[in-house]
Amino acid sequence: MKSATLRTGADLARAGLAAESQVVALDAVGTEYSIAIPSGLAALIDPADPTDPIARQFVPDPAELIRADDELDDPIGDETHSPVRGLVHRYPDRVLLMPTLACPVYCRYCFRRDRVGRAAGTPTAADLEVAYRYIEEHPGIREVILTGGDPLSLSDVRLARIVARLNAIPHLNNLRIHTRVPVILPDRVTDGLIAALTSDIPVWMALHTNHARELTDDVAAACDRLTRAGIPLLSQTVLLKGVNNTVDALTDLMRRLIALKVKPYYLHHPDRARGTAKFRLTLEEGRALVSALRGNISGLCQPTYVVDIPGGHGKAPAQDVTPDGALPGRWNLRDFRGQTHDYADNDG
Ligand SMILES: *Cc1c(COP(=O)(O)O)cnc(C)c1O
Repeated sequence: MKSATLRTGADLARAGLAAESQVVALDAVGTEYSIAIPSGLAALIDPADPTDPIARQFVPDPAELIRADDELDDPIGDETHSPVRGLVHRYPDRVLLMPTLACPVYCRYCFRRDRVGRAAGTPTAADLEVAYRYIEEHPGIREVILTGGDPLSLSDVRLARIVARLNAIPHLNNLRIHTRVPVILPDRVTDGLIAALTSDIPVWMALHTNHARELTDDVAAACDRLTRAGIPLLSQTVLLKGVNNTVDALTDLMRRLIALKVKPYYLHHPDRARGTAKFRLTLEEGRALVSALRGNISGLCQPTYVVDIPGGHGKAPAQDVTPDGALPGRWNLRDFRGQTHDYADNDG
């Protein structure tokens, strides 16, 4: 298959991933939320399976234009902790740096879906310089986490420049890159990319992946190139209804990750991003799934299940939440400073 990216309703129909009758509705979704599916990833979808877990994550759905009452534009509160454009400083010793808002694939459940793939909000070179200076002026920052957008959608030259600039900041202990690229575009993991990431301070990489079927032999080879280059690999997975909300799906995914030398790091409770109701499940359901994994599969396979507290208070370990009184589906979430926040389950 020719390496192209599906971006429109017509592209999706031509690839057999949408009916002709849906083209107009899908283009309407595209004006609100970016659409991109690289053809290699599209080829993993079984068009005859209406419950295909890969299709569910990436093929747009007209229902995305329906906004539920509890959904937010900025569900994890990036904006409240962004002192300069392109940088989020929520925790004392680490910051997120978002050098791009573009991704090679757009996930339909993305919590930054209101921003990704749009020119507005993308930091300019001057914005990035302001962000670097912010990091330089805050010696308590020990780690810079490149995210976005997908940082590995940048060219090798731009990545090398960012890594070199951060390397020159003496109080940084390590860099971290959160990306989907090795999973959805494994051929992008070239010698040139690895050279661009080579740095005096360690670069850790967290791969975003939600289903074992994403982890093809080509992905295994990409992971191998990264681990041989001395880049430790972690994973982060979003718990998504209809994609991976079964003990079997999670078991297969975590075991496959360990086989690729990727340590499962976080399992995220789905955020309340606009138009994502079909993916949400309750904390009760998520906690039961995670409890079922514990002990039955290797301790290496156990990610930490976390829920981002709406409003920007950070992540709370979801196995530690406490019920809020006698009301079903009401919880108290504790942030890292010890403050508790009310949370109401809503499975959409
Ligand atoms: C999730 C997150 C981090 C990283 O948290 P870790 O627990 O270190 O993985 C850092 N900053 C922000 C704003 C985050 O949302």
